Amino acid sequence: MAEFNPEDHWKAIILFGRNTATYKIALAKSLLAFCHQGMTTVSWEYLSKQFFHEYLNRLNLESPMPQLYQPGRLAVMVRIIAEYKSGKLDEQGAIDRVGNEAFGDVIKRFHNVGSHGNLSESMFYRFDMGKNLIITDDLHSLIENSATELESELEARWSLLEGAFSLHHDNYQLCNDLREIYLKSEDATERKSLTGNVGFLQGYQGNTCFYCGLDLNGINAHVDHVLPRQVVQHDLIWNLVLAHAHCNEQKSDRLVGDHYIEKLIARNENIMGSNHPWKKEIEHALGSNAGRRRSSIKEHYQRVGQILGWNHWGGSPTYSPDKDAFYKKLVTLLNQS
Ligand SMILES: [Zn+2]
Repeated sequence: MAEFNPEDHWKAIILFGRNTATYKIALAKSLLAFCHQGMTTVSWEYLSKQFFHEYLNRLNLESPMPQLYQPGRLAVMVRIIAEYKSGKLDEQGAIDRVGNEAFGDVIKRFHNVGSHGNLSESMFYRFDMGKNLIITDDLHSLIENSATELESELEARWSLLEGAFSLHHDNYQLCNDLREIYLKSEDATERKSLTGNVGFLQGYQGNTCFYCGLDLNGINAHVDHVLPRQVVQHDLIWNLVLAHAHCNEQKSDRLVGDHYIEKLIARNENIMGSNHPWKKEIEHALGSNAGRRRSSIKEHYQRVGQILGWNHWGGSPTYSPDKDAFYKKLVTLLNQS
């Protein structure tokens, strides 16, 4: 392996660590501060105080940025600072909380980089958990040579993480808002038994499985929601298809590829071309003409894709729309000829 100097190790820790929170950056800034003060042994109390002030400075804004990747949770430091600012904790109380709660992971894992857990181990400090940190000569000499550069690198990295977390949280919020649309929709209903629809769907699907295109004859067919029910919250007929049990299981609650959306549109138009009473239900839910119905379904697909992510299920590997018998058995086509 190539020789790495302490500066390489430091940069690897700061730039390439897998950060799901900003703790590592705040600890790195604290370490620089201790070096500036010429310290070698740092008590837990002093460490907690410095760490507290790093976050107090950082979060001293009207609306501070998130400090954790995971949305819906607050970093322990964000909670402590909030309690301090609201007067629930005095400074000493806040510093004690930091010492007890904030260092569980970051002190142990600071030196980890990616999968190379031991690459830089103990290079910049050793510690006695809950008691003290001992700063190494390597760190002291590193700081002597390039303190300003390291400072600004840490600032930049901290902002970068906050930006990434905030972007992730915004998307999360958007997904929640989109889910709300379905939860509050007039179509939202309790899940009910769908076996009554089997005969009806069989006819309009040409008796083939929606996902693999093979015959359903004599096989126990399952009624499946093309756009997952856990998102759309309804059992409207336009979204229901018949599939083999095993095809249904493979698909599970995933988003399907858009060739299945095209097929769903064709299947629904197939129902629209007949005089089945459920024609009305589809018309009510999706629109009064084929163009409108197509864009309604596409819109639902986009929304559900945003919620579930676009990592979709493409279907059974042998399936191809060109060879799908369904397209040759459209009742609509028979009616027109
Ligand atoms: Zn199948």
